[in-house]
Amino acid sequence: MSGGMLVVGAGTAGVQVAASLREYRYTGPVTLAGDEHEAPYHRPPLSKSVLLDHAGGPGAPGPLALRPEGFYQENDIELRLGDPVLGVEFDGPGSSSGRAVTAAGQTLAFDGLALATGAEPRRLGVPGEDLANVLRLRRAGDGARLAAALRASRRLCVVGAGFIGLEVAAAARRLGVDTQVVEVADRALARLCAPPTAEHLVRRHRRSGVRFTFGAAVTEFTGDGAVRGAVLDDGSTIDCDLVVVGVGAVPRTDLARAIGLDCGPGIVVDRRARTSRPGTVAAGDCTLRPAPLTGSRDLGEPGTRVRIESVHNATAQAKAAAASLLGAEVPGGEEVPWFWSDQGDAKLQIAGLSAGHDQYVLRGEPDSGRFSVLYYRDGRLIACDAVNNPRDFTAVRRALARGANLPPSAVHDVSAGLGDLLRVAVERSPS
Ligand SMILES: Cc1cc2nc3c(=O)[nH]c(=O)nc-3n(C[C@H](O)[C@H](O)[C@H](O)COP(=O)(O)OP(=O)(O)OC[C@H]3O[C@@H](n4cnc5c(N)ncnc54)[C@H](O)[C@@H]3O)c2cc1C
Repeated sequence: MSGGMLVVGAGTAGVQVAASLREYRYTGPVTLAGDEHEAPYHRPPLSKSVLLDHAGGPGAPGPLALRPEGFYQENDIELRLGDPVLGVEFDGPGSSSGRAVTAAGQTLAFDGLALATGAEPRRLGVPGEDLANVLRLRRAGDGARLAAALRASRRLCVVGAGFIGLEVAAAARRLGVDTQVVEVADRALARLCAPPTAEHLVRRHRRSGVRFTFGAAVTEFTGDGAVRGAVLDDGSTIDCDLVVVGVGAVPRTDLARAIGLDCGPGIVVDRRARTSRPGTVAAGDCTLRPAPLTGSRDLGEPGTRVRIESVHNATAQAKAAAASLLGAEVPGGEEVPWFWSDQGDAKLQIAGLSAGHDQYVLRGEPDSGRFSVLYYRDGRLIACDAVNNPRDFTAVRRALARGANLPPSAVHDVSAGLGDLLRVAVERSPS
């Protein structure tokens, strides 16, 4: 054993793999190889505080840094930035050790390999997408560019009413930019949240001045050099001098495919973040993983694989990946997935996965600005959207972690706290 562990991708998942290797007392060399030039940083602020504060320009993640400045040196993690890993060769067909080659021609030997290559923004694939001021949001430089562009622009068109698109729209309105959101589905957050959550958030955004067009696809961007309009499939044009395309992300699987790992829409991994190749693990947005468990049950459709794009998933999977590299199990077992999004002054927190639900229950009154939506499959709780309601979010997270049910008939009544219902459910359940 001499090469140590190589982690490709220095984002949330990659940094956590490296950190966890040290937490699990691995003493061999750890190399963290990233293709971006900035020290590893948090991405969520790119669609939130970065746009409002205009902080975190390229090369200066400062407040966005994932770990304090001295962290990598103190933990003896060799951080190599700005040099993509282009290829990997293993020592033999079943071997976990080998060498990676970088764009700068460096050779990095390893005994175990972790891929944490993340995802990149999906392109619309329409003419004019490369005009100036048609922006996407993934990297620190994208955030800085968009923050500057919002201050110089008058009319923004956001394509996609998902979390990122809506967060950008909220920031743009705070900065006084005229904002129009175009969404191909007939409502916002169609794949992600039930109508009460989505409709409430859209109402809030409308109140702050955002305009929405649903059921319309952008077919072309027009302009001469810089964008001047977004043409819709009904032939109409939205005049704009800035566009943000927020239509999802595509996992970065090129390297994994070149290595010969099983890939679908993501690198296929098991619950312990192991890929199809022994000694190679993968974590974060690049992976396609079994649906997380609640108790012993699948949270998603039974037996399906899911791609989860969230800080929590990247972190939890990375811990499992580091443990697997060392032939151990992650301490504490599987965690319930959770996610948050800041929608103007509304905080949305999501616990579990709502995909595959056959029923949802609205708890509380959306007009009060504080409510939650609990999702069920076959009468079992699988997820919750909590809007400005951290108590319900926490109670559902706990319930899912314990595999406890909060029956749909009991959760309507807001005078009963979900924490109390959970206590009763746990007392009644056979231990
Ligand atoms: C604008 C925005 C807002 C978000 N908001 C939220 C939020 O509010 N809440 C939430 O939970 N999640 C949010 N997310 C999602 C969250 O940031 C991601 O789920 C998380 O960053 C995933 O981490 P990752 O390490 O898997 O991927 P990434 O953070 O993308 O890191 C992967 C890294 O690998 C690098 N890489 C790829 N290939 C190579 C290679 N061959 N060689 C070297 N390096 C390589 C990439 O350049 C990148 O630096 C947001 C994401 C974005 C973009």
